[in-house]
This record gives sequence, C-alpha cells and structure tokens, in this order.
Amino acid sequence: MWTIAGEGIHPTDSKSATSSIPIADIKPPAKVVIPLSQHIGAPCDPLVKIGDIVKKYQKVGEAKGVVSSPVHSSVSGKVLAIGRFPHPSGNQSNSIVIESDGKDEAIDSLKENSDYLNLDPKTLKDIILEAGIVGMGGAAFPTHVKLNPPKEKKITAVILNGAECEPFLTSDDRLMVEKSREVIEGMKILMHIMGVRDGYVGIEDDKPGAIEAITKSASGTNIRVTSLEKKYPQGAEKQLIKSVTGKEVPSGGLPMDVGIIVQNVGTAVAVYNAVRYGIPLVDRIVTVTGNGINRRGNFNIPVGTLLEHVVTECGGLVGEPGKIIFGGPMMGIAQYSMLVPILKGTSGILVIPKGDVVLEDFRACIRCGRCVQACPIRLLPNMYSILGEAGKPKEAEQYYVFDCIECGCCTYVCPSRRPIVQQIRYIKAEMRKAKSKVA
Ligand code: SF4
Ligand code: SF4
Repeated sequence: MWTIAGEGIHPTDSKSATSSIPIADIKPPAKVVIPLSQHIGAPCDPLVKIGDIVKKYQKVGEAKGVVSSPVHSSVSGKVLAIGRFPHPSGNQSNSIVIESDGKDEAIDSLKENSDYLNLDPKTLKDIILEAGIVGMGGAAFPTHVKLNPPKEKKITAVILNGAECEPFLTSDDRLMVEKSREVIEGMKILMHIMGVRDGYVGIEDDKPGAIEAITKSASGTNIRVTSLEKKYPQGAEKQLIKSVTGKEVPSGGLPMDVGIIVQNVGTAVAVYNAVRYGIPLVDRIVTVTGNGINRRGNFNIPVGTLLEHVVTECGGLVGEPGKIIFGGPMMGIAQYSMLVPILKGTSGILVIPKGDVVLEDFRACIRCGRCVQACPIRLLPNMYSILGEAGKPKEAEQYYVFDCIECGCCTYVCPSRRPIVQQIRYIKAEMRKAKSKVA
C-alpha cells in the first residue's frame, strides 16, 4: 500500500453521511457576491460598474499581475454594488454583488471544440487563464501559473490529487464516481500541456467506487490509478508525491523541483469544461455536512452564493451552531458571518452544533513527543508551540518552520490541547513581517 512518510493521524472520517449521496443542484440564489480575490495572488480589478447588466459566464474581474486569476459572473442579472463585503478568510474583501434575473442567460461567445488535444500548449494555457481556473482542493493557486514552470525545471509527470483525506468531505469522491470521464479528459489536457507521458491519479483506498470509475475511464491511456492508504494528510501535495512516486520535495522546494505537477481532480474537470466548451469556472461541488445541518449532501453551487442561502436550501440549522467551517475540520476556516460567499476553493461546509464544540484552556507542554511522532514532515512542532507562546518567533527559523504545511496533525494529538497550528501561523506571520521590513 502506498503511503506517506511520518506517522500522520487517523481521525474518524465521518464521510459515510454524504459519500453515497449523488451530486445535486440547489435552488439558484437571488443574489451572488463575487469576491475579486478568490485565489493566491493579486486581487482582480473590476470590469463592471453599478447598474451594468451582465450575463452568466461574463468576465467581471480582470487578473492583475502574474499570479492572479480573473472572476466571472455565475448568474445573469444586474450589478447592485461593488465594495467591501465579508470574505471566508475572516476579512472584508472587494466584491461585486449581482442580483440574478433568474434567466441564467449565457454570453454568446461560448465555443465548443471537440478537437482540443490538437491545440498547442500555449493556446490551452491561455484558455485556462481566461477561464479563471484555480486549484480547487482549497489552496486556490492559479492553475495557469502552475502550468508554467521555469524552463530549467523539466516536468516528467502529472499527478491528480483524488486523495480527499480531510474528514467529512466527499465532494471529490462523488466527482470521481460521477464524472470520471471528464476527470480523465482534463488530465489528458494537463499532460498534453506539460508534454509528459506519465500521469497518476492518487486516491485513498476508502473510495472503491472512485477507484473503479477512474480506472475504467483511464483504461488504454498512460494514466495509472494509485490506491493510497487512508491516512491524514495523504492528500497534502508533497506527501502525495512521496506516496505516488517515492520522490521527496526538498526543504523549501516545490513539486517542480522533482519534476512533478500536482492538480486536484476538480481542477481537471474545470480545465476540461473550459477547453472543450469554453465555460469558465463559475460553480463547484461542495459537501454540506455535520450534525448541525438538516439536509446533508454534495451540491453543485454557483460561486458567490451566500452561506445563508445554502443553509436555507439544506433545511436550515439544527439548533444553535457551535462552529461553521468552510473546508474540513483539519484545515478549514471557521466562519464568522452567514453572509460569506462560496468561493472557487470552497470544498465543504461543516456545521458543528454548539454542544459538540469542546472549549478548554490549553496547558503546559509535557514533552510527550506525540506531535513530533505525528508530524508528516518530521518537524518539531513542540518547539514551535513553546517559542510561539514565549513570543520568540525568530528562534523558530532554525527548526525549518516554513516547511510546515499547517496540516494540524500536531494540534490533533496534543494531550495538553495546545493550539500548535495557531502558534505556527503566528510565528510565520511575525517572520514575514520582519523580513518585509528588512527588504
Ligand atoms: S501542522 Fe506543521 S508542525 Fe504540525 S504536524 Fe502538520 S506539518 Fe507538522
Ligand atoms: S504533543 Fe503537546 S504536550 Fe506533547 S510534546 Fe507536543 S506540544 Fe508538548
């Protein structure tokens, strides 16, 4: 069985509530809020003004800078406002508010091309850029940038990430079961762009339906399915590379340093839709789950739909929520408002009832070493925790803190309930601040 280095953890996966529920649409929202920043990199510049009439798929925000990605309207209707609105990151963000006319009238310029594998790589990359495609596993890194490594980095393989190791989430699982052909066609496009012969799809072995469907769709190609041990964080990019190819990304390095490009399975489908049908990224599959919501499932949701609309369409909350998280419980972000929109990178909405949230003060480190054992990068999380608490971020640099992928394994196993990931984030933020002052 292929697996990661470092012990990792085995949290209760809690996936059975939604893993067999087919993807469904929700009632279209009356209004969407499209943030101009839904990706890593520079926010977009708005291309519309208040009062403009827009069509579905119309570009409403232009990418600014090398690392950026345009945004498009997920409905047809009228621009109501442009300004700062709640964002799932916890801040306010410049956004475009569009009132839907309920017609979903699409732009006229959508073009279908069934001969897409004969397009040259540059044209394909331009289509991906124009379609606003970003990594859909949560990181939201612009896809066209990832597909443009420096010339000296020779890429030899593409890996599709279908591990979905975060507890509760099943959106990638359902996507692979229901849209395996699109996943593989998207993978063929990615391999054609990178000029590689070998492709892999890494899937945890608790998803037999996905493994079967993808294996069937990939038959007769150079794309191999790798069944991975169910273990968190099997789907972290560097861990996935190690599991699938045995190659280790060096400290401070990137996957391209070992000749690999990793993309999420959802990103592959978005690439296929853009190249084949000219459709930009305006919706995504989201797992709605947890004991705090009445109707759980996997839903295709337009980007910009507000959390309050999704909750209403899922039968409302069960009692008072303790936490609502975008993403999974390990790496997701707790939300502070029902008015935050679904983004291109929102893989799940997890609603935990108040009674299930344990609030307890953290205690002193007892040097038990469990966090060290669990860390998949083989770091010393206990040191980050102690130095973070003592307000000595600079001293953490010698312990390779920037190699931490913030997976949360250390926090999960700590018997003293120390907020290790939060302390790591504090250390990284302080060090970045210090470095920018020096520069
Ligand atoms: S959050 Fe960082 S330090 Fe903690 S286990 Fe994950 S990689 Fe290691
Ligand atoms: S798991 Fe917690 S208590 Fe144990 S060494 Fe790590 S930080 Fe200290």
